[in-house]
Amino acid sequence: MSYVFHRMPNRPLPIAVAGDGIEVIDSTGKRYIDASGGAAVSCLGHSHRRVIDAIEKQARQLAYAHTSFFTTEAAEALAERLIKAAPAGLGHAYFVSGGSEAMEAALKLARQYFVEIGEPQRKHFIARRQSYHGNTLGALAIGGNAWRREPFLPLLIDAHHVSPCYAYRGRLAGESDEAYAQRLADELERKILELGADTVAAFVAETVVGATAGAVPPVAGYFRKIRAVCEKHGVLLILDEVMCGMGRTGYLYACEEEGVAPDLLTIAKGLGAGYQPIGATLVSDRIYDAIVSGSGFFQHGHTYMGHATACAAALEVQRVIEKENLLANVAARGEQLRAALRERLGEDPHVGDIRGRGLFVGVELVRERAGKTPFEPHRKLHAAIKREAMARGLMVYPMGGTIDGQHGDHILLAPPFICTPDDIDRIVARLGDAVEAALAAAGQ
Ligand code: PLP
Repeated sequence: MSYVFHRMPNRPLPIAVAGDGIEVIDSTGKRYIDASGGAAVSCLGHSHRRVIDAIEKQARQLAYAHTSFFTTEAAEALAERLIKAAPAGLGHAYFVSGGSEAMEAALKLARQYFVEIGEPQRKHFIARRQSYHGNTLGALAIGGNAWRREPFLPLLIDAHHVSPCYAYRGRLAGESDEAYAQRLADELERKILELGADTVAAFVAETVVGATAGAVPPVAGYFRKIRAVCEKHGVLLILDEVMCGMGRTGYLYACEEEGVAPDLLTIAKGLGAGYQPIGATLVSDRIYDAIVSGSGFFQHGHTYMGHATACAAALEVQRVIEKENLLANVAARGEQLRAALRERLGEDPHVGDIRGRGLFVGVELVRERAGKTPFEPHRKLHAAIKREAMARGLMVYPMGGTIDGQHGDHILLAPPFICTPDDIDRIVARLGDAVEAALAAAGQ
């Protein structure tokens, strides 16, 4: 009997008691390789000495000071570091406690920006059907994941959805990246015009899609075309890098690789690497200046925003990533991981796609490869893979969900940036065994 209200109360969970590098240890002493970084969070693994020391130092000095009275050295130093490395035009960091809060702030900043500049009718948001932006009611309204939304309909804000950039399923036979990206940009423009161009506040997208479909990168040029459509119609671009940002793709910000700078950019997860809960919304000078010279006050806030200990932890995480040259390791280990997965699982008739960027990698499973037919939802293949992986001492993040009306089973891998070549081999060996066992149990 547990007094904790667990997400799935009928499924008892092991008790995690310790962390050691890339492993989590449970109360029986069993070790699990954390190949999902929890949910793409633990980018430095567990128990990193330098981050623990930074937390202890900050907590002893000043754990917390409310932001209506003070700023702190930790928040200022973290913001400076994030902004100096950020895409052009993003000039300020608004700190919160996680990804959903970062998205809520982004949505409200977009709305308030248009109020400040005298266009209050711009209220609509457009996002993509294959997306997850958080579980608070505003972020949920933007997200396109039907099964998450349905129990809570009608949702609070007006959101509209267009097709995702999902080459494995969405690209037509023989269609080039350029033509596919153009078709999607045209669809966005049609949606903007249908709603009325002067009523749309922002288009929202994950730069690399995470949990809804397992590390789906955009095709080349997609975001540049999307950016151009947004600019043409005065629509803001909000990029959600809660999962794919902070080095996960081998770049500190995933959109660097796209050559696109958004108006608002959200980060969380890897920002605090799990040592402290922290997220941030990076805000363009244009939006910041409109608020400062307008009402002078962003009508939003949370008790724990800019939490000094959380900021100190995140600052140290950033310093470690730089000092240990971890972005280069992410790129190299990511290549190794995808190559090893292709070698182990690439010929399996139920593995439809292996994709991703850096240490953000997805494997999509299909019942039948030629037609890309998904497994029937009742089989819950993703849950069986998770069970088999845990039995073998491996944490991966399998998900099933409705993607454009189809059920898809996929596995998301997001191991810590500190992984060695040997760690990658161990992950792939255990995952290969788990997938084969789950498929065998499903009679495949
Ligand atoms: N945005 C994306 C892309 C996410 O993957 C998540 C969480 O998985 C969120 C937002 C919400 O973040 P949080 O769970 O920290 O509220």
